[in-house]
Amino acid sequence: MRTMLGTIAGLAGGLVTSLICAAICLALQRYLEFSFFTLMVWFIIPAGAAITGIASSSGFYAGAKLFDARANAVMALGMVAIAGLTQFLIYFGTYATLQLPDGRTAMDVVDFWTFVKIYLGNQRYSMGHGGGFGVDVGNLGYVIAGVQPLEFLAGGACTFLVLQKEAFCEKCGRYFRRRFAVSKQGSAAFIDAVRAKLTPSPDYFGALQQPEGAGFRLNVSLSQCPECSQELVSEEVEFMEKKQWKALPKLSRRLSPEEPVLSMFQSLPDAKKVAFGRFRS
Ligand SMILES: [Zn+2]
Repeated sequence: MRTMLGTIAGLAGGLVTSLICAAICLALQRYLEFSFFTLMVWFIIPAGAAITGIASSSGFYAGAKLFDARANAVMALGMVAIAGLTQFLIYFGTYATLQLPDGRTAMDVVDFWTFVKIYLGNQRYSMGHGGGFGVDVGNLGYVIAGVQPLEFLAGGACTFLVLQKEAFCEKCGRYFRRRFAVSKQGSAAFIDAVRAKLTPSPDYFGALQQPEGAGFRLNVSLSQCPECSQELVSEEVEFMEKKQWKALPKLSRRLSPEEPVLSMFQSLPDAKKVAFGRFRS
């Protein structure tokens, strides 16, 4: 029951952000004559639809994390349906608000499907931003219109995959919540020494407290199930390259402590309480 309600709440969150995005797209189009949804970067990649897709799907993420909705088949289906609805609304909104030079609206002249056909066949895509260097793409507009929903869905799929990877307590049906985090810099030998400990224990925290050398960074965080207080320790390794930290996702791991380690973690001198831990697990 909780899962079902969570899924509905997650989808409702996505519906809200999708409607807001459609409204923003239409407003930009109406008042600035700038079609964000069809914005193309480097002409070939219709980036606008992907960005709109990601922005629209941010609500799915927030809703799912707030109400512990799993990224499951129902969620995926709902996301596709809402993406379709959003795209339809953007086209329909354009149809309803487009004014012809003689003051009539598109709505007065043609029916919706005829409008879509004409509209797609006479698309003008701007390169970068600003409308200065537009290119008429003619019938290619249909092809682009076919790619756009896929782009839009790809944005949602990213959110779906991120949700799927989040730590989830199967027993309670809740997402883990990040409580404390600590970051240590050291050599490869230091990272290896910590990673040689297979369970978070006094031994593990002992090794973590003895960093030496440089070049690598170990980010350790402690998450907890809000219901059963089950703990989870997550490690991420980064290395310094050209003065920037780069992640090494292959070295990421999650460890389940045998005994609670919250107080041990908390007593680390540089352990930081995580803000918005509900959205990070
Ligand atoms: Zn639990």
